[in-house]
Amino acid sequence: MRAWSVTEPGPLDGGPLRLTSRPVPVPADDELLVRVRACGVCRTDLHVTEGDLPVRRPGVTPGHEVVGEVAGAGSAVRGFEPGERVGVAWLRRTDGTCAYCLRGAENLCPASSYTGWDADGGYAAYTTVPAAFAHRLPGGLDDVDLAPLLCAGIIGYRALRRSALPPGGRLGLYGFGGSAHLCAQLALAEGATVHVLTRGAAARRLALDLGAASAGNAYAMPPEPLDSAILFAPVGDLVPVALRALDRGGTLAIAGIHLTDIPPLGYERDLFYERQVRSVTANTREDAREFLALAAQHGVRATTHTYPMSRADEALRDLKEGRFDGAAVLVNDL
Ligand SMILES: [Zn+2]
Ligand SMILES: [Zn+2]
Repeated sequence: MRAWSVTEPGPLDGGPLRLTSRPVPVPADDELLVRVRACGVCRTDLHVTEGDLPVRRPGVTPGHEVVGEVAGAGSAVRGFEPGERVGVAWLRRTDGTCAYCLRGAENLCPASSYTGWDADGGYAAYTTVPAAFAHRLPGGLDDVDLAPLLCAGIIGYRALRRSALPPGGRLGLYGFGGSAHLCAQLALAEGATVHVLTRGAAARRLALDLGAASAGNAYAMPPEPLDSAILFAPVGDLVPVALRALDRGGTLAIAGIHLTDIPPLGYERDLFYERQVRSVTANTREDAREFLALAAQHGVRATTHTYPMSRADEALRDLKEGRFDGAAVLVNDL
């Protein structure tokens, strides 16, 4: 089969991603073999390709927003039919035995591994996934619409729940990229009032088109105090800004993996009256199940731009250079 491989991680100009030929993978006893139909392009794929993330598997195939169909299974797998549509996401495996896994916080498992980093992902004709971590996908959404939901969507959903937004509450979103625009759609469908605080004019227009009550500069105060806020922009300077926009008892969730340094906080000014700050780390399979069902129910959709998978390198370059809004999705032609 043909598969993209990160042969030598480094800047895209050096061609770190190569299209290679290799045998179709053989699933382990507890794994499915999946024929890839579409795979979303996540910024993490760019970090893996350019070497911003340490190499965990030399020559890895990136891609962790995979929509495909079951093409085979190991001997211990039960309950999947050939041809059934499944999703493969970032969280690939946990030990299932540590204290975090046992209390339903498998996103914190120290022994977790990840698709497209520890194991080959979806920029290929075929991939594998442990059956217990394959996602059953709702009908009513096509492959291209589903792919970006599998990372950007799920993370945005976990951040929304971590922000403890009360029913009908006032939510502020700082930054408005792929994850935030999916999160906003779900919050609006659930009855929230959404204020978007971001610097891009195009992003502000999109926010208003989707139904946000206001869209303004990230450093400005929203038109009303917020019950909850989510920081999607990786900018620590915005932490005190967002805390000051919270009403008494409000919660700020920080959605990103990376954040620049947070400036000193003033206890009385920024935190008193039981305002809270929370981080968000990866997601659980339960988050994914809940989100995919809600996304189908409410018609949550990413703005997508498709590329043939044979041009995955071009899609990564366009992502890096900010040539499109929304999410790139590779449609398999390998
Ligand atoms: Zn991702
Ligand atoms: Zn664990």
